[in-house]
Amino acid sequence: MTQTAIPSGPNDRRASRRVLISHGERKIWVGGDAPVVVQSMTNTDTANAIETAIQIRDLARAGSELVRLTVDRPEAAEAVPYIREQLDKMDVDVPLVGDFHYNGHTLLQDYPECAKALSKYRINPGNVGKGAKRDTQFAQMIEVAARYDKPVRIGVNWGSLDQALLARIMDENAVRENPWTAQQVMYEALITSAIENAQRAEELGLGRDKIILSCKVSGVQDLIAVYRELGKRCDYPLHLGLTEAGMGSKGIVASTAALSVLLQEGIGDTIRISLTPEPGGDRTKEVVVGQEILQTMGLRKFTPMVIACPGCGRTTSTTFQELADNIQTFLREQMPEWKKLYPGVEAMNVAVMGCIVNGPGESKHANIGISLPGTGESPAAPVFVDGAKVATLRGERIVEEFQEIVLNYVKKNYQPVVPA
Ligand code: SF4
Repeated sequence: MTQTAIPSGPNDRRASRRVLISHGERKIWVGGDAPVVVQSMTNTDTANAIETAIQIRDLARAGSELVRLTVDRPEAAEAVPYIREQLDKMDVDVPLVGDFHYNGHTLLQDYPECAKALSKYRINPGNVGKGAKRDTQFAQMIEVAARYDKPVRIGVNWGSLDQALLARIMDENAVRENPWTAQQVMYEALITSAIENAQRAEELGLGRDKIILSCKVSGVQDLIAVYRELGKRCDYPLHLGLTEAGMGSKGIVASTAALSVLLQEGIGDTIRISLTPEPGGDRTKEVVVGQEILQTMGLRKFTPMVIACPGCGRTTSTTFQELADNIQTFLREQMPEWKKLYPGVEAMNVAVMGCIVNGPGESKHANIGISLPGTGESPAAPVFVDGAKVATLRGERIVEEFQEIVLNYVKKNYQPVVPA
């Protein structure tokens, strides 16, 4: 009997073209064989330059490789170069993406310093204007992008779909022998809008290597269906994300479900997780979730992974949860510095296990593992380093001592980069 090989990883059906998004020395490639890029969007008032610059700094430090901000009115356009300046002063070189709707043509033309300070423009073809004005205003934005050599994302959204185009596709459908369903018509309108506008941008002089596409919807199955088709019909790099993923676990689950199917098929070159923040919540959560999706799928490595068991009736104390949480936070906080000092550290695995059942076994598979004592076990926590038991921790200082072991492991095993 012939056996088929078990596929070992995601399919490779990536866009063949690459787009460069840069600011100064910082270069981010999207598409081709470049790693999938994580991006995020601010929710501050862009006109409040200081607040916005601080949020962008936080998003960038959390690992966002591109940050988008809305440019919705003259005060916002005026603030953009100042925001860029503040970021540069803070040594934050993340490229900025301007999000334009309705008046982008005016803002980009009237505020050239804003147009220059941005590294990329997002244009929603459904919100560019109506009737005869639409083509002119779209052309004005593309002309600015071409003039300053800026890439553009043609970002279609089902909540603001070009109504004239939708009407045209519905008319075409009405005379079909076997008309499509309303859902199929909507899919077609989204895809057609993205591709036709990209072609129009090229005709207007924007390079083919300056265009990224997206077709965002809020349903998981809709997103998968639309991007599978979009991926077949064009070779522009694709920006992936649910348009309104939602709040808390619902938003995380919906985004993970949709994106993991597509990424596994090689579809998607940059992602954004559009989480609704909890009141007073941290905006950087969307960056962490995006990174975790890519890392758990084995597509990229950002932060050492903490493997923790879920806990059960065998572990009734809170020490186990506290240690898992503490170590995860510790590793994430160290990463901005470790990334520069200890290249490769992001591939490290740390196991924090609750009892003797799977604790020692799982700990031996990790670079560093600790097996905490479960209920009724003697109060000792064996620690394993690269499969060998190196210590047994006891008492009140288990957390601090384990952190120290992790730190020593990093220093010993990842060659520090010596500044030139
Ligand atoms: S390792 Fe122990 S505490 Fe953790 S889930 Fe398994 S049996 Fe429960």
